[in-house]
Amino acid sequence: MRLPPQIPLFEPLLDGNEWRYVKGCLDTNWISSVGPFVERFEADMARRIGARHAVATVNGTAALHMALLASGVGPGDEVLMPSLTFIAPANAVRYLGARPVFFDAEPDFFQPDPAKAARFLRRRCRRSRGRLINKDSGRTVKALLAIDLLGHPADLGAFRALAQDHGVALVEDASESLGSRYRGAATGKGAPVATFSFNGNKLVTTGGGGMLVTDDESLAKRVRHLTTQAKGPGTEYIHDQVGYNYRLTNVLAALGVAQLERLDDYTVRKRRAAARYRQGLSDIPGITPMREARWARSTFWMYTILVDQRRYGLDARTLLAGLASAGIMTRPLWQPMHLSPAHAGAQSDGCATAELLFRDALSLPSSVGLTAAQQDRVIASIKKLRPRR
Ligand SMILES: *Cc1c(COP(=O)(O)O)cnc(C)c1O
Repeated sequence: MRLPPQIPLFEPLLDGNEWRYVKGCLDTNWISSVGPFVERFEADMARRIGARHAVATVNGTAALHMALLASGVGPGDEVLMPSLTFIAPANAVRYLGARPVFFDAEPDFFQPDPAKAARFLRRRCRRSRGRLINKDSGRTVKALLAIDLLGHPADLGAFRALAQDHGVALVEDASESLGSRYRGAATGKGAPVATFSFNGNKLVTTGGGGMLVTDDESLAKRVRHLTTQAKGPGTEYIHDQVGYNYRLTNVLAALGVAQLERLDDYTVRKRRAAARYRQGLSDIPGITPMREARWARSTFWMYTILVDQRRYGLDARTLLAGLASAGIMTRPLWQPMHLSPAHAGAQSDGCATAELLFRDALSLPSSVGLTAAQQDRVIASIKKLRPRR
């Protein structure tokens, strides 16, 4: 039997100046973490986000580690963050000896729910001598982490107000939302410090890479210093503290510059594909297409549907298996962090919606290069797999 051609969940598209710029690095021997493409990539990102400074890092997790450190998070502190997320930000909290406290998602756009974060801050915390204290643990809540999920911005204005009202730092993890807008502003402008990822499955990729963006010059300087082993200026190896080897290489930055040139086009393509999915899936009973908030302009980085087992006739994981047999790769959302063995024992504040989304959500093929014919095959398969009754 001949198998149908596979449709991957996400594959990168490298159809711009990638070859030319990478060849430039090899021809000139500028392959390490110093080089013209690193500076250019940083400048291009800063301009695109509308931030004054950008610091390239070896990956998005490293950028988050630095963003939290530079926001004052240290050993014994707590960071209030969503339970529904890829694990990287929760791990970054732990690298600092700090602890995550998890709050719930909202069901409409699959984003962190500011009302749930507000409830925790209001009911479970008190102010004491300039600090915000978690009444249950007695520890200091230092920062609030807003994460844009699946290409859609979080409600960043609401998170900004919360951070201000409660006197905690705010960090935005915009790893999944490059190219998206919140009330007209680029994601990455939603907090004093924000981070991006250029991992292989992100909309703009360098294979692996990350970026921290901020308007704060001294913070940017400090992070640049820390990410280069905290090495002093000049030719001597003098390091004023324990730093990190977290800088991006020039070869990968060259990929990033070329990819970023394509982002506007990619965003148009992704939004067009989202419209096709929405239209094709909207009349299938029990399938809820992905939505966009009034205040958002999403890239729909990872197009995600909800599967209502009762109305559709199959649960999300059975549908996943059926689509896999048809050569179509789909994926459930991440196990919520409050259920993750990696973060066992962490406090969480009622994360029921995250658990429902973990059960019912399914991400569909979302490559930038996905064709209309491939999308129609996905849609037709979801229709066909629905049991007749
Ligand atoms: C991809 C991603 C990151 C960073 O991951 P890296 O692989 O380290 O670049 C961080 N947070 C979220 C939500 C992500 O999706």
